Amino acid sequence: MDRSRLYRIEAIVMHRSDVGEADRLLTVLARERGKLRLNAKGARKVGSRKSGHVELFVRSKMLIAKGRGDIDIVSQVETIDAYRGLREDLTRSTYAHYAVELIDAFAEEGSEQPELFDLLAEALKWIETTNNLPLTARYFELQLLTLAGFQPQVFFCAGKGEPLQEIAPDEFYGWSPASGGVLCPTHAADRSDSSRLSLNALKVLRHALRSDYTAFTALTLRETVLSEIEQVMLRYVQFVLERKVRSVEFLNLLRRENTL
Ligand SMILES: [Zn+2]
Repeated sequence: MDRSRLYRIEAIVMHRSDVGEADRLLTVLARERGKLRLNAKGARKVGSRKSGHVELFVRSKMLIAKGRGDIDIVSQVETIDAYRGLREDLTRSTYAHYAVELIDAFAEEGSEQPELFDLLAEALKWIETTNNLPLTARYFELQLLTLAGFQPQVFFCAGKGEPLQEIAPDEFYGWSPASGGVLCPTHAADRSDSSRLSLNALKVLRHALRSDYTAFTALTLRETVLSEIEQVMLRYVQFVLERKVRSVEFLNLLRRENTL
């Protein structure tokens, strides 16, 4: 084979589908090239040496051959991490789908995005091993938003930028994705899209942006605070993406069925 038609990548499989008799079409996030569509030819043949290495979420080293059309061909593949724990647990696998959907929304074709790749690799490991999936998801969302330049404002009022004053126990801050984050009670009253944000929830969001992963996910929070920060982050992420993330709906479906 002509060596000039080959290149190496480190990749994570984000989506896959079956094509033809035995091929598998992959969408991967490549550390060196962003989002990439590839054909793993023959991966579905019995005994194929590629098969286990091109499963969903698998992180691998790939040797790619340039194809004649738009889609390049996986020539060789070697697993770095299969994240087996994700496959054996429906809830973990659902969170992994969610992480991939969000990353996919920010990934670009043909541009090097090593930080995005590293965050996905790290997040899959967190989701595979954590005892605190909800806080892991919140931490991941904030890391991703920060990386993508959409970190929500939680330290100052997003209305006029003034420092936030302490509020009384029966008072609330505002949360306005369109304004970019938290609002003081005065500016919250001016915004029709503003929802309530408690002092406790605000403290948790601040903590997430100031702490490392281990310290943040070691927190023990009341169910009401957990669900509040889930809701505010969901509104924020949805605003940023300007569309519903399909796996969020899937998570809600699971929750309604009491499997979470
Ligand atoms: Zn204000």
